[in-house]
Amino acid sequence: MNNQTIIATDSAIPTSPDTMHKASGKINIGLSACLAGHEVRYNGGHTQSRLCQNTLSKHFQFKTFCPEVAAGFSTPRPTMRLTGDPDSPTLSYTSGSSENLTDQLTDGFRHKLEQFGELDGYILMRNSPSCGLERVKVYQENGYPHEKKSRGLFAQALRDRFPLMPLEEEGRLHDARLYENFVLRVYAYHHFRTEVLAAPSMGKLIAFHSSYKYVLMAHNQTAYRKLGRLLGRGAKQAINTLTAEYFQQFMSAISKPASKKNHTNTLLHILGYLRKSVPSQARQNIAEVIKKYHQGVLPLVTPLTLLKHYLEQYGSDYIRNQRYLSPYPESLGLANLL
Ligand code: SF4
Repeated sequence: MNNQTIIATDSAIPTSPDTMHKASGKINIGLSACLAGHEVRYNGGHTQSRLCQNTLSKHFQFKTFCPEVAAGFSTPRPTMRLTGDPDSPTLSYTSGSSENLTDQLTDGFRHKLEQFGELDGYILMRNSPSCGLERVKVYQENGYPHEKKSRGLFAQALRDRFPLMPLEEEGRLHDARLYENFVLRVYAYHHFRTEVLAAPSMGKLIAFHSSYKYVLMAHNQTAYRKLGRLLGRGAKQAINTLTAEYFQQFMSAISKPASKKNHTNTLLHILGYLRKSVPSQARQNIAEVIKKYHQGVLPLVTPLTLLKHYLEQYGSDYIRNQRYLSPYPESLGLANLL
């Protein structure tokens, strides 16, 4: 994987449509440099991710960055850890030196953060006092870790600066449901940025909401209805305020993986569109396949493929254009894992 130049932007909620790498047609995603195979770890090594290198790199253009190297720490370097208050930890050397390294690290990545506005997601290295997204240990003066865990200082700054951007630790992507949910959020974030944020309008918000109807239903029906009501009241609000509120609620609605039960309901709902055009026996067969998915006998890809086959012939444009049917490139094979 190449270390790409980061694209510059100056906005916390991104506004530019140009989020796709022009030459490759891939989506721009940030990546901890050690996961890309760069020898930047404290011990001079790397932790190259095969998932990123062999699979995701076919669709994502990785923008690699190591906040510790950017801050001027050498490679190799003494190990570092978080210390003090877990709600506001500081960075120091593990050796017990009292030197506070927090400012050095944050000064090193501050300018770089401004260049991450056109990323559609970020994959981080776990357990790092800089990059770890969750469960990073914070040590007390007596050398023992607090029970309460924290987040690496760079990961926290990234989350503060871009609160809606999908972030995930590489290790968690080995869980099929978390992996699928991360990729789905990356593409949804990308679609919203390019289709709505580029030039917000009521028409674009409604078109986006319509195309994500079944994705939302599968994740959170209450949120789907709430978002619909938000758009219903929309004309009374300034379009930029409405767009920002919609984006926040939308990303929150899809932040957790959809359950098997909700997928099943969504598939049955879509099957209803074939009621008038497909013979009853064929619909019963599809319903049987959906039932087997619900029972865990078949993966999600089986009823989805069957439905898509019939919708291609008998479905309206509205249902064929639903993002639920193809929320990300089919070649990632994610629906095989669910
Ligand atoms: S600071 Fe982040 S990118 Fe750099 S070596 Fe540590 S985990 Fe990897």
